[in-house]
Amino acid sequence: MAFKDARKGRGLYTAEVIRRHQLSPHVVRLTLAGDDLRQLPRHGYDQWFRIFLPGTDGPADLSRMPDQFGMTGYLKYLRTPAGNRPVFRNYTVRELRIEAGELDIDFVVHGDEGIAGRWAVAAEPGEQVALIDQGTGFDLLPDADFHLLVGDESAMPAILGILRDLPAEARGLALIEVPDAADTQPVERPEGVTVQWLPRDNPHATPGELALAGLREFTPANPHLLSAYVVGEQALATEGRRHLVAAGVPKHRIMFVGYWRVGRAS
Ligand SMILES: Cc1cc2nc3c(=O)[nH]c(=O)nc-3n(C[C@H](O)[C@H](O)[C@H](O)COP(=O)(O)OP(=O)(O)OC[C@H]3O[C@@H](n4cnc5c(N)ncnc54)[C@H](O)[C@@H]3O)c2cc1C
Repeated sequence: MAFKDARKGRGLYTAEVIRRHQLSPHVVRLTLAGDDLRQLPRHGYDQWFRIFLPGTDGPADLSRMPDQFGMTGYLKYLRTPAGNRPVFRNYTVRELRIEAGELDIDFVVHGDEGIAGRWAVAAEPGEQVALIDQGTGFDLLPDADFHLLVGDESAMPAILGILRDLPAEARGLALIEVPDAADTQPVERPEGVTVQWLPRDNPHATPGELALAGLREFTPANPHLLSAYVVGEQALATEGRRHLVAAGVPKHRIMFVGYWRVGRAS
C-alpha cells in the first residue's frame, strides 16, 4: 500500500504507554503495549499509523475514534465533543513485537511547540492512546537496481525500517540528516547499501537542507531503474523530487511525502 492508498488502511488499536526512554538528545522512544497490538498486522518497511493522543483541553475520549480515516471516519472523529477530542498525528512503527503485544515509536523532540513531540517527552506509563494502521508508504519496485533513501530525523524510523527489510541483494544509498551526531542509531542493512549520516550540529539550521544538498549531489547512473524515497520536511520532499525528475527519474519511481512543515502544525 503506497502513501496514496493510506485512507484504505483499516483497524483501530488501543494501547497504553509502558516505557519512556530518552534514546538520544533529540529522540524519545515510547513503548506501547496492549492485547490489541497482538492483532496489528506487520507490514514492515516504513509501516505507519495515525495515533490519537490526549489534546490540551481535557482527557481524551478514545471510545469514539473511527477505525478508518476516510471521509466517514473523519466526520465520526469530529463528532467527539471538542474538549474530549483526541489530537491525531502520524508516526512510524520503529519496532513491532507482535507476540509480546509491544510497539516502539521514536518521537523527534522539537521544543515547546505542537502536541505529539511535547506529549512524548512527558508521557507516563499507563497513558492510553489509540492508533489506526495505515500500511506502508514504501513500495518495493521489483526491477530497481539502486535504492536512494533520503530523509531528516522524522524519517529516521521509516528509513531504518526500509533498510532492515530490503532484500539482502539490494544496492543503494541512504542519506539521513540528524540534529546531532549523537542522534545516529545502529543500522541493519543489506551489504550493498551505504548509509551516510548528516549531522546538522547547528540548532539554527533548517532541518532537511543538508539532506537536500546531499541529494542534489546524487546523479542516478540509470534513472529508469532507480527507486527513490524522499521524506521529511516539506521542502526536502518537494525539492528532492524536483531534482530527481530533472535527472530523468520517472515520477512513478519517486516516493515522496512532506512529513511536516517548518512553522506549520499538522
Ligand atoms: C507517514 C508519516 C510518518 C511519520 N513518522 C514519524 C516518526 O516516526 N517520528 C517522528 O518524530 N515524526 C514522524 N512524522 C512526522 C510527525 O508526524 C510531525 O513531525 C508532526 O508534525 C509532529 O506533531 P507535533 O504535534 O509534535 O507538532 P505539530 O503540532 O504538527 O507542529 C508544531 C510545530 O512544530 C514544528 N515541527 C513539527 N515536527 C517537527 C520536527 N520533526 N522537527 C522540528 N519541528 C517540527 C512545526 O513546524 C510546527 O511549527 C511522520 C509523518 C508522517 C506523515
